[in-house]
Amino acid sequence: MARRKKVYEGKAKILYEGPEPGTLVQYFKDDATAFNAQKKATVEGKGVLNNRLSEFFMKGLTQIGVPNHFIKRINMREQLIRSVEIIPLEVVVRNFAAGSLSARLGIAEGTALPRPIVEFCLKDDALGDPLVSEEHIMAFGWATQQDLDDMVQLALRVNDFLSGMMLAVGIKLVDFKIEVGRLWENDYQRLIVADEISPDSCRLWDIETGQKLDKDVFRRDLGSLSDAYTEVARRLGVLPSNVTHATKPTLIN
Ligand code: UDP
Repeated sequence: MARRKKVYEGKAKILYEGPEPGTLVQYFKDDATAFNAQKKATVEGKGVLNNRLSEFFMKGLTQIGVPNHFIKRINMREQLIRSVEIIPLEVVVRNFAAGSLSARLGIAEGTALPRPIVEFCLKDDALGDPLVSEEHIMAFGWATQQDLDDMVQLALRVNDFLSGMMLAVGIKLVDFKIEVGRLWENDYQRLIVADEISPDSCRLWDIETGQKLDKDVFRRDLGSLSDAYTEVARRLGVLPSNVTHATKPTLIN
């Protein structure tokens, strides 16, 4: 059998050529990285959980009419996605102060923000993904005004959807990051949600206890990352409730 072609390898995922033009296979690795890959580890089962959680969120987004790249899950670690031209910006939405916002502006972690705040960071590891303004984005041609309007609208819809999903299972959505891709259909293009939505790219706090259930567990050495992600999956009904550890999760089909 011919070896399939690797299109791209990132920190947590690999993209392979898909079975049909315009498709890719997205493979979720067990690798965890933080602080621009200065901290690295392998977390057994993380890829399986993120594959399943990203599927769950993307399918939900499709059901409420938010366009995204997900086509179908192929196996434990892989999903079929639409190939898009990734806009070189990370779109961050914040509901509560945390992370770089708290560090930059001195606002205590956990402070409720007066409204969701949308930020853009340039996707450039060498520069540490710096925060950029709309002026920078348009002046340097990373996206147009129309793209920015579309990205903000997509991000706020994802925020409402995810916040509600999480609230229903006792979790506060503090902030998250999405990536957006340009999908060409004949001469027309539209922007869709791409990459992944998982606890790797969200801050999730238990509403009652404030316990962190996201990648900060790894960033700040707060315990088992796979236990935290398994807890999120279990609450959302993605894993059966009797699964207590992520090393060999049983998936519900
Ligand atoms: N985030 C991400 N990838 C990045 C940077 C941030 O997924 O390269 C997510 C992060 O998990 C958090 C949100 O975006 O949910 C806001 O992150 P922040 O700007 O506070 O940066 P951090 O504190 O993670 O460096």
